Amino acid sequence: MTLAHRLRAAGLQPTVLEAAPQPGGLASSQNIGACRWDRFYHVILLSDRELLALLSELGLGEKLNWGYTRSGFYTDGSFYSLSSSLDFVRFPPLNVWEKGRLAWTILQASRIQDPLPLERETAAAWLCRLSGRRTYQRLWRPLLRSKLGENADRASAAFIWAIIARMYAARRSGLKREMFGYVDGGYATILPRLREMLTREGVDFVCGQPVTNVSGWDGGAQVRLADGSSLDFDTVVLTVPCPQIVKLCPDLESGERSRLESVVYQGIVCPSLLLHKPLRSYYVTSITEEWVPFTAVIEMTALVGPERFGGSSLVYLPRYLSQSSPVWQKTDTEIMNEFVPALLRMYPDLRESDIVAWQVARAREVLAVSTLNYSRDSLPPTRTSIENVFIVNSAQISAGTLNVNETVALANRKAAELLPLLRQPRRFSVEAEA
Ligand SMILES: Cc1cc2nc3c(=O)[nH]c(=O)nc-3n(C[C@H](O)[C@H](O)[C@H](O)COP(=O)(O)OP(=O)(O)OC[C@H]3O[C@@H](n4cnc5c(N)ncnc54)[C@H](O)[C@@H]3O)c2cc1C
Repeated sequence: MTLAHRLRAAGLQPTVLEAAPQPGGLASSQNIGACRWDRFYHVILLSDRELLALLSELGLGEKLNWGYTRSGFYTDGSFYSLSSSLDFVRFPPLNVWEKGRLAWTILQASRIQDPLPLERETAAAWLCRLSGRRTYQRLWRPLLRSKLGENADRASAAFIWAIIARMYAARRSGLKREMFGYVDGGYATILPRLREMLTREGVDFVCGQPVTNVSGWDGGAQVRLADGSSLDFDTVVLTVPCPQIVKLCPDLESGERSRLESVVYQGIVCPSLLLHKPLRSYYVTSITEEWVPFTAVIEMTALVGPERFGGSSLVYLPRYLSQSSPVWQKTDTEIMNEFVPALLRMYPDLRESDIVAWQVARAREVLAVSTLNYSRDSLPPTRTSIENVFIVNSAQISAGTLNVNETVALANRKAAELLPLLRQPRRFSVEAEA
């Protein structure tokens, strides 16, 4: 939608095609109990410049709320706060020497300007080298697992660098405390407002119809929809994940197809629960225990406040998955039957009767994993070999973590890159770009 907004501002006439009944994708919301909130947990950082600029274009600046949050660690059956420098100094799972090396790692990472060389080494190798094997096993590996699940071992050092850089930005200098924000009502406020603005500007929407085929020729491009109808455009920009692009565009050249297929996606199953009482008031609790089937606990009400949820606490239990994980085959009830006992074991004061409502959200293609030599071997180019068909998707965020700010920044950047190409359609050579 941001891309359509920018292209419209430059005088083009975009149409947004969306498979779901409403646009929003991973940021869209769901009903849970009597409440409505994001399907997946979202926070905004003070450093999210491009998202904050978009929110002020939408007139939502006044609906932004900010709060200090705390982070926790669940290890050896105990919870530890890791929210301040003092917590860090006290953190029992690491000895003084290990803490010194950990601080050194973070300092080194924060000094790196160009992450491209980091793509040549796995995150595991890089972190073991800088922090030591024990700190890797006790701290970094659980953190990687909480972000990447079963793909943790495939990530390059550039991935963990991007996380450190983003988390560094979340901590106010001086106090070094984590500060997060959200808009009243979450993305259920932002997305309809964005759609309304686009509609007013003259952007068209076709929702509730998956695109099934995209083809191009020297005069334009054609999109076929699931109901069998087709639409003609001058240009098509594919903003869907790479596996979708491969399916939609049978005319792609084989080299392009292999490049898109080489992008490793991870997915997520993410139960959310409304609870009668709060857990530990950490926004995020990273988990090192292998017996826990989810990779973190996100307590949204540590930021948003339970009054927004009728006095209940809203908690997410994310589990990141590779495409081949058997967990995809499980029903929502099977997932809850596995997750709830683990949650009750972690928080002995919690009872099953404290669960007011639950939902399980799933997304298959969430994040393109920053694998070894990602920019060289996998990063999707904007141009395709198909006349008038382009790609702008989140797999093109190579030196960042997946978040709405990066997505909006990508759309802003790619709109500027696309404009001269869209105005003068011509035949491109994919080989030349590669
Ligand atoms: C668990 C989780 C936590 C997150 N936490 C944060 C956070 O704290 N802060 C933050 O800023 N960001 C966060 N994000 C990231 C944020 O949600 C994404 O960066 C952003 O939503 C990505 O937007 P996108 O448009 O690139 O992709 P998507 O949201 O995946 O959009 C792709 C769209 O394409 C549509 N589509 C797919 N195939 C077709 C087809 N054939 N025809 C038509 N339409 C199709 C889909 O329906 C979807 O709407 C989080 C994401 C997840 C999953």
